[in-house]
Amino acid sequence: MTYDGPTALYIGGNWVPAADDETIETVDPATEDAYASVACAGESDIDDAVAAAEEAADRDAEWRSIGPSERGQYLSAMADEIEEMKDEIVLVESHDNGKTPFEATLDVDMVIDTFRYYAGFTDKIHGETIPVPGSRVDYTRREPIGVTGHISPWNYPFQLAGRSVAPALACGNSVVLKPSSTTPLSALYYAKAADAVGLPPGVLNVVPGSGRNAGTALATHEDVDHVAFTGSTGVGKSIMEYAAEDVSGVTLELGGKGPNIVFEDADLEAAAKGCHYGIFMNAGQMCWAGSRLLVHESVHDEVVDRVVERAQATPLGSGIDDDGRMGPLVNESHRDDVLEYIETGVSEGATIACGGGVPEDRSTGYYVEPTVFTDVTNEMTIARAEIFGPVLSVIPFSDRQEALDIANDSLYGLMAGVWTKNIDVAHDTAERLEYGMVSVNEYPVTFPQTPFGGYKESGFGREQGAEAIREYTQVKNVNINVDTR
Ligand code: NAD
Repeated sequence: MTYDGPTALYIGGNWVPAADDETIETVDPATEDAYASVACAGESDIDDAVAAAEEAADRDAEWRSIGPSERGQYLSAMADEIEEMKDEIVLVESHDNGKTPFEATLDVDMVIDTFRYYAGFTDKIHGETIPVPGSRVDYTRREPIGVTGHISPWNYPFQLAGRSVAPALACGNSVVLKPSSTTPLSALYYAKAADAVGLPPGVLNVVPGSGRNAGTALATHEDVDHVAFTGSTGVGKSIMEYAAEDVSGVTLELGGKGPNIVFEDADLEAAAKGCHYGIFMNAGQMCWAGSRLLVHESVHDEVVDRVVERAQATPLGSGIDDDGRMGPLVNESHRDDVLEYIETGVSEGATIACGGGVPEDRSTGYYVEPTVFTDVTNEMTIARAEIFGPVLSVIPFSDRQEALDIANDSLYGLMAGVWTKNIDVAHDTAERLEYGMVSVNEYPVTFPQTPFGGYKESGFGREQGAEAIREYTQVKNVNINVDTR
């Protein structure tokens, strides 16, 4: 299938080629065939996009002067446009990223819900009055920050871009979105939606480009007031350093090494199903992957058997013209990295319970078998590194404290899972886990309404829910002396 979607940059309400005519050539990870060629933004394109956003963010510009409900109507109309284009976006995302259409559909649905959720928020963003001494009225205003830069990764290209763009727009900011050059296509559909609903020019600019050029140019730009970054912890640290230069804000959504803790009283079939889904969905390329399975020693063998059985039964394939439920990894170099981690696991003494290599019947496409390691200790590389592939490390524990010690012994703190029928154990474990999100008896799960983000090196700030409104506004305090005597 050939790509016939948008191929240009979207700056100031216009579709334009890159200033130096550079392009990004994409490859379909399932077929290894060339798929699309789109404009690749360089530094001067980023300058143009930021200038357009700055003009749109001006106090007297249309976007800042329209009422909050009207702003909400734009978001709502964008949700409708995205819904209209849903089938097309799903297929483009599958060909660009390798995820199955089933998975891409979940992503697009989440975006539609997110735009509708924030469409309803625009007229509920308010300050408060504060009692102060004397004859004074003191109140706060929540104001837009100005220009927000959004840098998104390749693993959920459409969903993660929309997750931060929707609340930023709802708060009245103007946006420059730079998707990953590995998967640049679906983000251009936000520009299509903005164009279709007549969003004022410059309010949303979309500029695919490399991290090294376009990403750095956007993150270091002096006229960008806040950077919402989703990606690796290493690059996230650089983004924070850049922001320190001009004391601008950041939201950082970074890596993870999620533990799924299965207690002895859990519904073992439900736990096995959730743990399987939590690592093999999206071929394990998930920040919130449950990549460590911590299981009570009394039920260890039974849970491992059930997870392995499910892993071996997972049909591999693109899901486009076959019944695949787990697609390929995003590209060849990432597949090689994942295979290297598997080799390291073996060399450090872990045992492969299933998988461990490239599937024999998938010589084309960047596939890796769903892989389960047993005999893992939490000190091993496969228990510490993010891997970002379909590789599960199983670690037994003997009591709750040991499970918590292992779970919390990680650089990361994004999402943890707990499987138990005991409500006391559920609450106590949730409280003592050093994670930004804890999910009990299902994994993984999130909603537009609920805050998403991590403790420790998994990030800083929160996306989604009312928390994101705090990220994309700044608070002004106004004090008025009303003592006119
Ligand atoms: P990455 O850090 O390599 O790239 C992310 C984005 O940053 C891309 O758009 C890239 O072009 C850009 N970039 C790269 N170097 C840059 C620089 N120096 N300055 C500015 N921008 C730069 O990450 P990735 O490989 O695309 O994504 C995988 C990572 O993202 C994993 O670590 C994963 O855990 C993380 N992630 C986190 C979340 C979350 O919500 N916490 C969600 C998805 C992915």
